[in-house]
Amino acid sequence: MSLIDIQDRIDAAVASAGRPPGSVTLIAVSKIQPSDRVRAVLDAGQRIFGENRVQEAQSRWTELGAGRDDLELHLIGPLQTNKARQAMEMFQAIHSVDRPKLAKTIARIADEIGTCPDLFIQVNTGAEPQKAGVLPDDADGFIRDCRELDLPLKGLMCIPPADADPTPHFQLLAGIAERNGLVGLSMGMSGDFEAAIACGATHVRVGSAIFGARD
Ligand SMILES: *Cc1c(COP(=O)(O)O)cnc(C)c1O
Repeated sequence: MSLIDIQDRIDAAVASAGRPPGSVTLIAVSKIQPSDRVRAVLDAGQRIFGENRVQEAQSRWTELGAGRDDLELHLIGPLQTNKARQAMEMFQAIHSVDRPKLAKTIARIADEIGTCPDLFIQVNTGAEPQKAGVLPDDADGFIRDCRELDLPLKGLMCIPPADADPTPHFQLLAGIAERNGLVGLSMGMSGDFEAAIACGATHVRVGSAIFGARD
C-alpha cells in the first residue's frame, strides 16, 4: 500500500460515513521504520507523523526534519513524566495522557514554557491490565481534572484489544467524548481505520499499511 492508496481509502470511508471531506487527519506512524521509507513518505507530501518513543523520535527527526517548519509530530506511545519536557518541546500533539501525575507535570511545564501540545487522553477501553490508559469508568473524572488544570484537551485516544472486534471500543470512546464535549477521536490503525472512521475518528494512526511491516 502507498500513502495515496491509504488516503484514498480514508476519503472513501469518510464519504460512506456521510462525513465532510477532510474531516479525518492521517497520522503516518513512522516508529521503528528505516529512514529511507520515512523519507519516501515525506517526499510524497505527508507532513504529520506519529512516533511512540521520545528518544527515537528525537534522533530520527533531528535529521529528517531539519529545515522543515511544516512538520507535525505526534507522540502516540506512553510518556514517562521525566520525559514530559522533551516531549512537549518536540511534539505538536501527545495522545497518551493517562494519569494525574503526568497531567500535573504537563500543566506545570506548560505554565513555565508558555505553550502546550494538543492533548488526547488515552482510554483503556478493553480494561487490559498490560495496557496504558485510564479505565472507562475513570474517564469523566480524569477529563474534569485535566480541564481544571487548564490543559488544552483535544480529545480521546484508544487502542482496542488486539483480538477483539474494534467497533464496540470505538463506540465506547466516541460516547465518552460526546458526553464530555470533546471533539477529537484518535482511533484506528492499519487494520481497522475504516471501522474507526465509521465511528467518528478524527485522527487515524496508520503505520505498517503505509510503510510496510516493522522489523
Ligand atoms: C504502532 C502504533 C500504531 C500503528 O500501527 P499499525 O498497525 O502499524 O498501523 C498506531 N497507534 C499506536 C498507539 C501504535 O503504537
